[in-house]
Amino acid sequence: RSRELGGGRQSWFDPAMHAHVVEQIRLEHDLRGALSRGEGLWVAYQPIVEMVTGGLAGFEALVRWTHPERGNIPPGVFIPIAESTGLVVALGSWVLREACRQIADWQDKRAPGSAPLFMSVNLSARQLSDPGFVEVVREVLRETKVEPAWLKLELTESAVMDKAEQSIRLLQDLRTLGIKLSIDDFGTGYSSLSYLHKLPIDSLKVDRSFVSAMHHSEENRAIVRIIMDLARLLGFDVIAEGIETSADANLLRALACDYGQGYHFARPLPPADAEKLLGGELPWQAPW
Ligand code: C2E
Ligand code: MG
Ligand code: MG
Ligand code: MG
Repeated sequence: RSRELGGGRQSWFDPAMHAHVVEQIRLEHDLRGALSRGEGLWVAYQPIVEMVTGGLAGFEALVRWTHPERGNIPPGVFIPIAESTGLVVALGSWVLREACRQIADWQDKRAPGSAPLFMSVNLSARQLSDPGFVEVVREVLRETKVEPAWLKLELTESAVMDKAEQSIRLLQDLRTLGIKLSIDDFGTGYSSLSYLHKLPIDSLKVDRSFVSAMHHSEENRAIVRIIMDLARLLGFDVIAEGIETSADANLLRALACDYGQGYHFARPLPPADAEKLLGGELPWQAPW
C-alpha cells in the first residue's frame, strides 16, 4: 500500500505495514522456537455432545500458544503464520500426537465397557499435501495405541477442493486406516456439490455462522435444515458448532442434528478440566 505525501509523491514505506511484517517475523521465530523446545504450546479440548441424550461423545483438540512474554496468542493469529511458513506441518503433527496420547489416557481411565469417545483434530491444507502424512498418522496411532475409529480429522472445504482429485485419493488412504473424516466450517467455503458425494467422509460440521443466524429468520433456519437434509442424503453425520444458547440447542435437536459443540455446553478446556467430565456429572445436563 502506498501513502500520499504532501507534494503528491508516493512513499512505499508504510510504517504500519512495516510494523506488521516485523511482528509476523518475530512471531514466526518465536513459534519455531516454541515448537523445537516444546514450550508454551498446549492443547485445549472442547466437548462434543450427542444432541439426543446430552451425553459426552468426544472432544475437539484446539491448539493453544502461551507466549512467554505476551501470554495467550489466539490460533487465528498464529495458525495463518504457521500455514504460510510451512511450520503448520510440524505443529499439526505435534497436536495430532498430543491429542492421541490424551484420548488414549482418558480411555484407559474410563469405566470399562463405556462407549469410546472420539477425538477430532484439525488439519491444514499443507498437511494434506505432505506426502508423508498418511505415514505420520499411522505411526502416531501405533505409538499411542489409539484405535483408528476414535480419531476424526477435520478438513476445510477449501483444503479439500483445492486439489480435489489428489485430496480424494489421500482421504481414501486415511480412511483405509480406519479413521473418521469430517468437513469443518461447512457452508463457508465453496464445495462443489458434484464432488461432495464423492468425498470419502463421515460427517459435516455446520459452521457456527449458520448456527448463530438461525434464530434471526426462517431463511437461516432453512439453510441449516437443507445442510442437514443434504448430509443425511449422502450418509454423513452432522455436527453443529457454535451452539451458544439453549434455544440454539433446541432448534438443532428438533432438526435431528447428531452432535453439537459450543459455549452453551462448554468452552475449550485445559486438559485437567476436560478430564473432570469423563466420569462425573456433565455441567450442561442440569439446564438441559
Ligand atoms: P474451528 O476448527 O472451526 O474450531 C472452532 C472454533 O470455534 C474454536 O476457536 C472454538 O474455540 C470456537 N468456538 C467453539 N464454540 C464456540 C461458541 O459457542 N461460540 C463461539 N463464538 N466460538 C466457539 P479457536 O480455538 O480460536 O480456533 C480457531 C480456529 O483455529 C479453528 O476453527 C481451526 O480452524 C484453527 N485451529 C485450532 N487448532 C488447530 C490445529 O491444531 N491445527 C489447525 N490446522 N488449525 C487449528
Ligand atoms: Mg475444527
Ligand atoms: Mg469448525
Ligand atoms: Mg467454524
